[in-house]
Amino acid sequence: MEKDYYKVLGVDKKATKAEIKKAYRNLAKKHHPDKGGDAEKFKEINAAYEVLSDDTKRKQYDQFGSAGPNMGGFGGGSYGGFGGSGFQGNVNFDGFEDIFSSFFGGATQRSSAQSRKRRGADLEVEVNLSFEDALNGVVKKFKSTHYKECSKCGGIGGKGEKTCETCHGSGHIAKKMHTPFGIIQQQTTCPDCQGAGKNFAEKCSKCSGAGRVRESVTIKVEIPAGVQNGETLRVRGQGEAGVRGGEAGDLFVHIRVKPSTKFVREGMDIYSILEVPIFEALLGGKFIVETFWGKVELKIPELTRDGEKFKIRGKGVKRGSRQGDHIVQIKHKMPRKLTSKMKEKLEELKDMA
Ligand SMILES: [Zn+2]
Ligand SMILES: [Zn+2]
Repeated sequence: MEKDYYKVLGVDKKATKAEIKKAYRNLAKKHHPDKGGDAEKFKEINAAYEVLSDDTKRKQYDQFGSAGPNMGGFGGGSYGGFGGSGFQGNVNFDGFEDIFSSFFGGATQRSSAQSRKRRGADLEVEVNLSFEDALNGVVKKFKSTHYKECSKCGGIGGKGEKTCETCHGSGHIAKKMHTPFGIIQQQTTCPDCQGAGKNFAEKCSKCSGAGRVRESVTIKVEIPAGVQNGETLRVRGQGEAGVRGGEAGDLFVHIRVKPSTKFVREGMDIYSILEVPIFEALLGGKFIVETFWGKVELKIPELTRDGEKFKIRGKGVKRGSRQGDHIVQIKHKMPRKLTSKMKEKLEELKDMA
């Protein structure tokens, strides 16, 4: 799948981070599946944003394109240079900061008059995980201040429903605006019933009829084992509470995974390098390979070449019922120096070969 991420977001190659973010928000809003948008397109937009919003990945993308060595979804370094990819996380997840932003907020308001219930806004959060946590799965907690269902009225908003007197049930009111071009009449959401068209004889004292209140809440997200750098999880119903018992929004969790110093992940497989002294590689033998799931014995044949790869089945990424493999790449290790005795033997060998 070779997509031009810049084209996907409709931005210039030299676009600033702010321009990219803005373009992303607009497109995400427009193509949000809940607004009848195309889910595939939405995914594509998210994928493009994941790369272009990350300095390191953007640089790699500019250099290699989407088929580049590190664009398989995992931000590991290239072979031989493990850990050198300079992961850049910008939100410290453990800092318990208020890192949510009300992201798709407001997008649903246009249709407010049709329904007295209004869906809550979606939220998004970026999560930084260690390589280990991404593979094992982890529970993350964080704080956010956003709309929660009112505990007093259970989201209903009050007692004795009646037609709103301010908007006469339409949910919106006409507002005249004086502009240099004359008077413009604009429809705005009725402030009295928040667009519901209906009101209560007795509004809930806690939420004033909205059925929801802004509160600081702790959210717990269970990150499943096997998540990958750059993917976005959607947690249904963990966004903001809807208006007057409307459906809650969703929580979008953007996953960032720090590279490991030992392993590189490619999809479901995990790669590592095994240094083998050159003479042992020539003779073959048994070696201990460290996989993510523990040590495993590997037998390599004689005349194993430098760079040769061996597959250890079932020791890769576990995700649901699937599991990838561990792939170990042999790297010949040269002796540090040659003694005169070794030289003599090597000369003999050279003549034999
Ligand atoms: Zn209430
Ligand atoms: Zn009204």
